[in-house]
Amino acid sequence: MTNPLLQYRFEIPFADIRAEHVEPAVDELLATANAAIDRIATSTDAPTYDNTLGALEACTLQLEYAMGIVGHLESVATDEALRSAYNAVQPKVAAFSSAIPLHEGLWQRLRALAGSPGADQLDPTRARHLKKTVDEFRRHGADLPPEGKTELQRLDVELATFTTKFAEHVLDATNAWELVIEDEHALAGLPESAVEAARHAAQAKGKPGFRFTLQSPSLIPVLTYLDDAAIRRRMWHASNTRATAEPWDNRPLMADIVRLRAAKAKLLGFASFADLVLEDRMAKTGARAIAFVEELRARSEAAFAREQADLLAFRRELEGPSAPELQPWDVAYYAEKQRRALYDFDEEALRPYFSLAGVLDGVFAVATQLYGVRFEKDASLPTWHPDVQTYRLLDESGARLGAFYVDPYPRETKRDGAWMNGLVTGRVGPAGFEPHLGLVCANVTPPLPERPALLNHREVETIFHEFGHLLHHLLSRVTVRSLGGTNVAWDFVELPSQIMENWCWERDALDLFARHWQTGETIPEPLLQAMRRARTFRAASAMMRQLGFCDVDLSLHTSYDPARDGDVVAFARQVMQRYSATALPPDYAMIAGFGHLFSHPVGYAAAYYSYKWAEVLDADAFDRFLAEGLFSRQVGEAFRRTVLEPGDSRDPADLYRAFRGRDPDVEPLLRRSGLVA
Ligand SMILES: [Zn+2]
Repeated sequence: MTNPLLQYRFEIPFADIRAEHVEPAVDELLATANAAIDRIATSTDAPTYDNTLGALEACTLQLEYAMGIVGHLESVATDEALRSAYNAVQPKVAAFSSAIPLHEGLWQRLRALAGSPGADQLDPTRARHLKKTVDEFRRHGADLPPEGKTELQRLDVELATFTTKFAEHVLDATNAWELVIEDEHALAGLPESAVEAARHAAQAKGKPGFRFTLQSPSLIPVLTYLDDAAIRRRMWHASNTRATAEPWDNRPLMADIVRLRAAKAKLLGFASFADLVLEDRMAKTGARAIAFVEELRARSEAAFAREQADLLAFRRELEGPSAPELQPWDVAYYAEKQRRALYDFDEEALRPYFSLAGVLDGVFAVATQLYGVRFEKDASLPTWHPDVQTYRLLDESGARLGAFYVDPYPRETKRDGAWMNGLVTGRVGPAGFEPHLGLVCANVTPPLPERPALLNHREVETIFHEFGHLLHHLLSRVTVRSLGGTNVAWDFVELPSQIMENWCWERDALDLFARHWQTGETIPEPLLQAMRRARTFRAASAMMRQLGFCDVDLSLHTSYDPARDGDVVAFARQVMQRYSATALPPDYAMIAGFGHLFSHPVGYAAAYYSYKWAEVLDADAFDRFLAEGLFSRQVGEAFRRTVLEPGDSRDPADLYRAFRGRDPDVEPLLRRSGLVA
């Protein structure tokens, strides 16, 4: 029998793919790809796009296809055999990928192409492909002399070791901490569900009473609801001094990681690690990202001060004029009380209006109105589970753009969260358009025997968000596959997804699909208004918290100097104090548990700002729809042509300007967040 992972088929035969296929297929595909790369590198023909970059793209296609399928099945239908097969091949594939930019012969061929007269005659997409590839090889050390390559390798090995250690410390320090409370009276204020969870957690450890931990599902309810301020303080303090003492002390590791990153950037010819990471992102430089964060901070400051004054006034209304200033462990607690006092709004009241079938119809209807595309059920695609639904996407002319799967509900064999994945990235090929294949996975509230799947509003936004990624994938029209669809800069990729969430807040869009599952009624006006008002509650505080993370990340990866600024913990505390309404205690060390920045050699380091950057883009882009029509075909068409179809075939800043007619403006995000009128 042939190995299904070695054959390319658009209709992927999921039922035929087994764990024992994985290793032999990947080994064979790696050998084929390596041989093909050697052939490219040793060719004596004059270098052309086709015999270098084009050939390089082609030689990894089947490997990417197979790994995409295996990784996908590992996420949605895993078992022990599949997981161990996947774990066995992953390091081999990672090693293969990281060796490509260091292949001397391949690099010489690419340089020869870049320096050849033919390079000037490449079409813009191929020219960009060449430039991006050459830059990427350089950022991976291709241009360094032998001793530089050795040094880079040493830095990378140390970074991998230290960041892994950092992540282990956070995990171990988190798991080592517990607070057991025997007296149930001490739990006043805590919701029943959190009390029950703590009781179970204690029982599981053979302890009496109630057990609390630093994991979010245990920590967050305590900080939000528990009346006893001393307990809140203990847990807040433990959480914010995590991994700062032996045997899990992250303080020396952070200093080393920041130093190694700076050394790596310098070796590769960049002024800072942020400049190295951001060269290929929309922000381009650390300085630009810092200016962006500073602009948002300045624009949020006044609303932030107002929110804190209101919260203190609220506390003093409750407890009398001599109630003390708020401490960091008080903020979430009083904010929750204030939220309930201000908005008598129950999220759950919306659920009956959001059946899953209705929400899918809604996202299809929005896409149809904006882009003229059509969705049809497609029974021809095999799936991996009976709950999975399959569709095809057709253009207005009836031409097939692609197909996709929707896998909505949780299962024991499926990982948590929601995501979009492109199993096949099509392209505009020499023989015409080749369609795309993608999927949306989620873990929304499943149906019950007596009622359909009813979603909360956050889940509705999640479905719209992932469909935004899916449309970016399915509507892509690029000649070079690796520049197609969602293969765009990290600080640009959330624009197509986040913009879709906006339609979940507008009456005219909601009325297309949000119907009470029993009565067929649309959402009552008071409920919709309450939902919209609650959206901006303490938005400046949420903004400042995020900006504090962005600032500390960028500061550490641009200007931080241990000789001048002292140790990382003290430096980070000083930076973050500017974004905190309450005085941070001297031993505040949130940074020591900040996995986004330190758990991976790169990860979110110098890139935490991307969250806010993408929000600015999506609010500003959506503002054009608000101004010219929520369902304007003309604006939809413009968004499709300038943002969704080109993938990474053009610079994202140019794409954005092509859609908006100017650079992004922070104003619409501030307005949407209620920070300016
Ligand atoms: Zn996303």
